[in-house]
Amino acid sequence: MSESHNHLVDNSLSGKIKKETGVSVARCYQCGKCSAGCPVSVDMDYPPSLLIRKLQTGLPEHEEQVLRSKSIWFCLSCEMCIARCPMEVDIPPMMDYLRHESIRLKKVNPASKNIISFHKAFLDSIEQTGKLYEMGLIVDYKTRSFNLMQDVMLAPSMFAKGKLSILPEVIKNRRNMKQIFKNTLKNKQK
Ligand code: SF4
Ligand code: SF4
Repeated sequence: MSESHNHLVDNSLSGKIKKETGVSVARCYQCGKCSAGCPVSVDMDYPPSLLIRKLQTGLPEHEEQVLRSKSIWFCLSCEMCIARCPMEVDIPPMMDYLRHESIRLKKVNPASKNIISFHKAFLDSIEQTGKLYEMGLIVDYKTRSFNLMQDVMLAPSMFAKGKLSILPEVIKNRRNMKQIFKNTLKNKQK
C-alpha cells in the first residue's frame, strides 16, 4: 500500500465520530437491544439502533437525517444502551458529538429548539453559580424559549414548599468553575 493510502481521511460522519469520540458504529450488528432499553426511544424519530444504521450506510441523505433528527436531542445520556449493548457501542458520547455537529452546521431540528434553550440555561446556571439555581434557570429558559407563561401558576406553591428560592446559592470558588467552562470551550475549538 502506498504511503498516501495510509493517510486516507474518512470524511463520512461515522469516520468523524470515530476520530473525535473513539466510537465505532461499524461494530453494531443491529440486535436492537439499545432501542428496546432506551427510555425515550418511543419519542425519538429514529431509535438509537436505526440512527446507527443510518450512520453505517454513510449515505449523505442518511447523515443529513441524523443531524436533523429529534433523537439526538431526546437522548438523556442515561447509558442504558451501552449497558445492554453486546458490542459495547458507546452511544452517549456519539450523541454528544452529533448534537455539537448539528449546532455547528445549523441543522438543528426546529422542534428541538426548546430542549437546546433548556440545555443552555442549565449550563449558564452552573457556570455562574457553580450549582443549579432553579429560579435563574427558569427565567433564563423562558427568556430563550419565549414560553413565558407556561407553568407560571406552579410557582407560588413551589415557593411555599421551599422548592424554589429567590436567591442563588453560590459555591466558594466560582472562578474555578468559570475556568472549567473556558478550558472546555477552548478544547472544543481545537
Ligand atoms: S443514553 Fe440516550 S440513547 Fe442511550 S438509552 Fe439513554 S436516552 Fe437512550
Ligand atoms: S445494542 Fe449495540 S449492537 Fe445492538 S443494535 Fe444497539 S448499538 Fe447495535
